[in-house]
Amino acid sequence: MTKEEILQRTKAFLLDLDGTVSLEGVPLPGVTATLSRLRSAGKRLVFLTNNSSKTRKRYEAELARTGLFETGDLVYTSGNAAAEYLNAHFRGKRVYLSATEEVKREFEAAGVNVVEECPDVCVLAYDKELTFEKIKKLDGFLRQGVYFLATHPDDVCPAKGGSMPDVGSFLALFQRSSRRAPDVIVGKPYPYMADSVAGRLGLKKEELCMVGDRAYTDIRFARNNGLKSILVLSGETTRDMLSSIEDAPDLVLDTICELL
Ligand SMILES: [Mg+2]
Repeated sequence: MTKEEILQRTKAFLLDLDGTVSLEGVPLPGVTATLSRLRSAGKRLVFLTNNSSKTRKRYEAELARTGLFETGDLVYTSGNAAAEYLNAHFRGKRVYLSATEEVKREFEAAGVNVVEECPDVCVLAYDKELTFEKIKKLDGFLRQGVYFLATHPDDVCPAKGGSMPDVGSFLALFQRSSRRAPDVIVGKPYPYMADSVAGRLGLKKEELCMVGDRAYTDIRFARNNGLKSILVLSGETTRDMLSSIEDAPDLVLDTICELL
């Protein structure tokens, strides 16, 4: 697909953060101006992240400070998706949540009944405050057969000088200790966030275009869910890797700035 066709058919761009619009919180060169031009062209912008260690409010504040976020844009994390999923499928049920304190408060504010004992559902978010006590507790609930939701499957999260363990790595731990895999994962590349964003914006999924730097999450998410996709080479994927990619995007660009 040409960029002209993508621009013509897309009403909202779903933007990955790290490696796509920013690196370690710093906007990539020219991206702020590109996003402004997309808004001027009438496009909605959604910052879509699997990182469930921070709240939407914190992301909005951080992105606004660097000039990436403007009123009218949307931030949507896999944590937000998990809270919505719980409200849709387990409304009022008792939820044990392994998450940072700020994300716990965000779930509570969304109406989730967060408890420490006797849960009906267990949720594993990107808990950067994880302790052995929390691991032991969650493992115990999983052994009892409590329904298990994980926010996202990423093994690692990009970090200064390399990467750090992410939820997928913790899922491997629980797979070994309790012989349980999640009953559902709501983050990319699974369907929940695509349906939810489309519903929230009142758009069809084919009117959405995912822009990201990881083929096996961002582009797979788009392909699995009927969204258009742009793979940018400003992050994890290099030009050398393109020939071996299974999840082919509609368009490859060096950076998102090439779109306009
Ligand atoms: Mg990325």
